[in-house]
Amino acid sequence: LLAENAPFFGEVHLLPIGLHPGYEAESRLEVVEPAVVAKWYRPRPSFGHKGTFGHALLVAGGEGKMGACILSARACLHSGVGLTTVFVPHAQVPIVQTAVPEAMALADLARIDPASYKALGIGPGMGTDKKALDLLERLLVMARSTPLVLDADALTLLGNHPHSWKDVPEGAILTPHPKEFERLFGPVATDFERLQMALEQAVRRQCVIVLKGHRTLVAGPDGSGYFNTTGNAGMATGGSGDVLTGILTSLLAQGYPSFQAAVLGVYLHGLAGDLALDEQSMESLTASGIVDSLGKAFKHLG
Ligand code: AMP
Ligand code: MG
Repeated sequence: LLAENAPFFGEVHLLPIGLHPGYEAESRLEVVEPAVVAKWYRPRPSFGHKGTFGHALLVAGGEGKMGACILSARACLHSGVGLTTVFVPHAQVPIVQTAVPEAMALADLARIDPASYKALGIGPGMGTDKKALDLLERLLVMARSTPLVLDADALTLLGNHPHSWKDVPEGAILTPHPKEFERLFGPVATDFERLQMALEQAVRRQCVIVLKGHRTLVAGPDGSGYFNTTGNAGMATGGSGDVLTGILTSLLAQGYPSFQAAVLGVYLHGLAGDLALDEQSMESLTASGIVDSLGKAFKHLG
């Protein structure tokens, strides 16, 4: 299914996803066509202002993990959001302010008014200790009706403390790589089973699951799935996923529905990685290089 130029390219395929007894369904699988994402892409209106494009809140980073935070914040800002605020431990605030002057920084949870934010991205580098778990749980409750991306440490926390699932809102985007996926949903025997499980869990949990890898699968709550067609092995480098989290949070803040945001964001992330190869080799590509090519990627959309 994941092979290059697989025979189903451009066609719709139905895949049974009844992995568990008593659960029978079919998933509608497609490959992302440039025409689909071009149709969903919303060009910026001339009279737009900061407020038009939403305010994103990223909860990411900690001591020794500020790169994850900075990469997410930079990707968010380079993907069209109006305003970005980053929530980090107090001692890390100067790092954000210095490395990403376009972003605001907060360290006090009491100062977060969830109504101010159009989208929330939680996880990269935030840690997996008790303090991080408390923060995640409080944020999930505070931002019950805010479009949400959960990635990295937030997914590990959720895998280790499944009771927190009750506070994950419908429509949330989860972006696990295969290891995080198995922490969330348990071990699988084959890649194919992992795909089926992603499609099934997206329906069960009514969320969007982005199963990352070569040919990332975006599985939606209605049982549909898109295989991404962009991206390359140069993107298998530290921070690459943190960039995706920033892109997705940015698109949600701009009002894209969560499934469209996920398919479009994954496509743009891969396209930026592909366009970066004009100047880079796969070996020299870094996560910052993906962010730097986001401009070219958006231009390709129309
Ligand atoms: P993470 O493991 O969280 O840093 O995420 C890695 C990101 O890089 C995901 O978006 C993957 O889809 C992407 N990626 C990693 N390896 C490849 C590959 N071989 N081909 C295309 N994309 C990749
Ligand atoms: Mg990651």
